[in-house]
This record gives sequence, C-alpha cells and structure tokens, in this order.
Amino acid sequence: MPAYINEIFNSIQGEGPYAGMRQVFVRFEKCQLHCSYCDTPRTRDISGTCRIETKPGSGDFSSAKAPLQGEYVSDTIGKLWTNSTKHVSLTGGEPLLYADFIRTLNVEYPLYLETNSGFPDKARKIKNIIAIASCDIKLPEHDCTDNYLDLLKNEIKTISILNETAKTFVKVIIMPETTKESLSFAIEGVKSIDKNIPFILQPVTSKNLVPSSLLFDLMDFAGEKLKDVRAIPQTHKMMNLL
Ligand code: SF4
Repeated sequence: MPAYINEIFNSIQGEGPYAGMRQVFVRFEKCQLHCSYCDTPRTRDISGTCRIETKPGSGDFSSAKAPLQGEYVSDTIGKLWTNSTKHVSLTGGEPLLYADFIRTLNVEYPLYLETNSGFPDKARKIKNIIAIASCDIKLPEHDCTDNYLDLLKNEIKTISILNETAKTFVKVIIMPETTKESLSFAIEGVKSIDKNIPFILQPVTSKNLVPSSLLFDLMDFAGEKLKDVRAIPQTHKMMNLL
C-alpha cells in the first residue's frame, strides 16, 4: 500500500525534548483536523507530488510522483542519512493515517512519530516499531475539530497505547487565549496515564506572542499534577530551517 508523502529531507528537529537532533523527515499528506495555527496547511490535502532532498541538508529538491512505495521511501531515507542523524521523523499531516504503510518501511533507524494522537487503533498497529512518540493534545481554542471531546478521548487512548512501548512525550500548543481551564483537559488526561510523561508547553509561533506571565502560570498549574513540565518553543524557526 503506497503512501502520499509531501516531502523527504534531512534537517534538525526543532520541537520538544529532542530539539537539536538531526533527523530524516518523512512528511505525510492528509490530516483529519484543521488547527488554526497549522504551519503545514499544504499537507492537509493530497498533492500527488513529493519533493525529495537531493543531498542531506542542502535544501535542493527533486520531485517524484506520489503515492510512493515503502521500498522507495526506505531507500530514500538511507540516502539522506548522515553520521549525526539519529531518527526518522514520521510527521505530517497525520502519519498515523498510514500505519499500514509505516509497517512496510525497511529501515534500521529509530522511528520518531509526530502525531496528533487521533487514531488509537492505528497507533496500536505500529506501537512496537516506534522508538519515540511525540503526541499532541489539542485544546478547545485550537479550533481543530467540531467534536473536541471525541478527539480528546482518542488522544488519551493513543498516548496510553504508545506509552506502553515507546519513549513518549506530550506536546500542547499554548496560545495567548489559553487558560488554566482549557489546559486542564490535557493535564487530567496525562495524569490518568502517567504523571511522569514529559508535558511540553509549546508557545505558538506567531506575531501575537504568548506572554511569559501566562506561560509561567500554566507551567505551575500543570506542575501541581504532573512531574515533568517544560516550555520549549519551535527552535527550527529560529534557525530558518524546514
Ligand atoms: S494536526 Fe498538525 S497537520 Fe493537522 S491541522 Fe493540526 S497542526 Fe496541521
């Protein structure tokens, strides 16, 4: 089963506790959500073309017709690997939409899954081959879906499944509108699984900065229930990287 992939390239992870680590990124197309802050809106739909970096980190791309087969993607990952590269980032869009395809990848490198956590059944299919799971929990003000409580239920289930076998952390985008009340959904959900799961508050990258006083308040609020609360911005944007 081939997959619609938007781009494959080598860069530096810019989010979460693994920021700074070199990865080969495989960015899948299609997403079931429509977050207001989405920084890859082009990947929500199928384009039929995948751009592939010609040399690791060069920013030069050739293009291939999508969908792509697992064997081709595995070969491409191998060609884009370098001495300092640590993981293959499966990102998007929503990579869990391609759980069956991900199972066909034939690579010896650790797989790093970046998911919106909306598909517990698909997470179950690949949990044994994922080394690190970066799991989003969306907040009501992200305006991602018309069924927030259904999404939240699926997110908590997905995180619980991935946490059984993968090094798992949770990422929550903080907007200037975020309140303790809206964040409490995410806090309670993570606490119900394991209060030691790293809980990353990522201030939204936008002209409207999240006030530091709000960030401090929200960190302390989360810290009442969770053991490992951190605030980490998108660092790849500071370096002007993909
Ligand atoms: S889940 Fe990710 S890819 Fe999907 S709309 Fe939200 S930010 Fe964009």
